[in-house]
Amino acid sequence: MKLNRLELSHYRNIESLELCPCDGINILYGDNAQGKTNLVEAVWLFTGNPSFRGGKLRELARFGQDEARLKIRFEDREREQEAELWIDGAAGRKKALLNRVECRTAGDLNGAFYAVVFSPAHLSFVKEGPKNRRRFLDIAISQIKLPYRNYLLQYEKLLDQRNALLKNASKYRNLEQNIEVWDLQLAKAGTILSIFRYDYIKKLQTLSARIYEGLSGRKESLGLRYLSTVFEGTEEPTAYDTATVEQYCRKLKESFQSDLYQGFTGIGPHRDDLEVEIDGRSARVYGSQGQQRSSVIALKLAEAHLLKKAVGEDPVMLLDDVMSELDVSRQDYILNHLKGMQVFLTCCDISNTMKLRQGKVFHVEGGRLREETAVDSPSEEEGCPCICT
Ligand code: ATP
Ligand code: MG
Repeated sequence: MKLNRLELSHYRNIESLELCPCDGINILYGDNAQGKTNLVEAVWLFTGNPSFRGGKLRELARFGQDEARLKIRFEDREREQEAELWIDGAAGRKKALLNRVECRTAGDLNGAFYAVVFSPAHLSFVKEGPKNRRRFLDIAISQIKLPYRNYLLQYEKLLDQRNALLKNASKYRNLEQNIEVWDLQLAKAGTILSIFRYDYIKKLQTLSARIYEGLSGRKESLGLRYLSTVFEGTEEPTAYDTATVEQYCRKLKESFQSDLYQGFTGIGPHRDDLEVEIDGRSARVYGSQGQQRSSVIALKLAEAHLLKKAVGEDPVMLLDDVMSELDVSRQDYILNHLKGMQVFLTCCDISNTMKLRQGKVFHVEGGRLREETAVDSPSEEEGCPCICT
């Protein structure tokens, strides 16, 4: 996957901008608050996902402007395509066009343009509660298994309905019996999501452990564990069948009284977690800044390799401020593993990345871009074998 051109107007602090990146590494450098993350975020929106920074749509339009317009030309192995996003800041709506045809929703861009993003915001993935880890899984899986997003939407709708019943329990007679109909539907969708997640984590575990081992110079190990509120303590589900759905229903029945008391459903994929461990201990509780950052980077690189395996080509890598807090050997390891991919890498200080001697360098200042002289190409022997063999 290659981004050939990016055009932005009235997007965040960018009044108007055109970027023609190279196929390899594109370095976007500049002082704080100049627009580097804004650029990376703009590219990310074309995956059909919301911003990795969270926030509201209206925040994306430049102050004092009603509408932001974003356009990319990109190519996969087959052809060049064009996508546009029109963000109506005043109304808080966005419209997506793929090859000039309006999409039903911006989410329909999912499956057309592929990218993997790392931003400092992703450190909350290890540092904070499970919400961001579930979000990571949901976005990563929906990029490679297109039906996943629909199952997730279906599950969330059913969950809202069940929670509404629980909250208004006094209005319903025989709720415990009647809720079984909802439970069955919820259990079906929840089982499917759990199977997708177990399967994805298994693959992610193998790859990210190998990457983390390399990043840490074989000194530390990374482990992942899916903590399921439904299937914990039992054999993990690998196939969708009646027995697994029944098992899920039994769990819902067991938690009914506490759900009723709390007014919401306490078990299911919306409450599950992904435990990240370094040397067998929680990265959240015991990890250093560098270890936490390295574990998120390992997961992101592994995500990129899994995406490549699933769709047959490298995703565009968006690495926002990835190098901070990492020692030189960890930085080198990351740079070596980006070989063959189109990368957008932001930093404040170019000296760290100049050793790449490859690609394009852009200086970002006040929402404007200035391309600097291209640096030399690397010699063949500087290449590093891809880990995804
Ligand atoms: P850092 O190195 O600190 O991460 P950065 O270059 O990545 O900086 P950005 O996060 O891209 O900086 O933000 C650049 C500027 O964009 C900030 O000063 C921010 O206030 C501004 N900004 C954000 N949203 C809007 C908006 N809707 N309109 C105008 N400016 C905005
Ligand atoms: Mg930034």
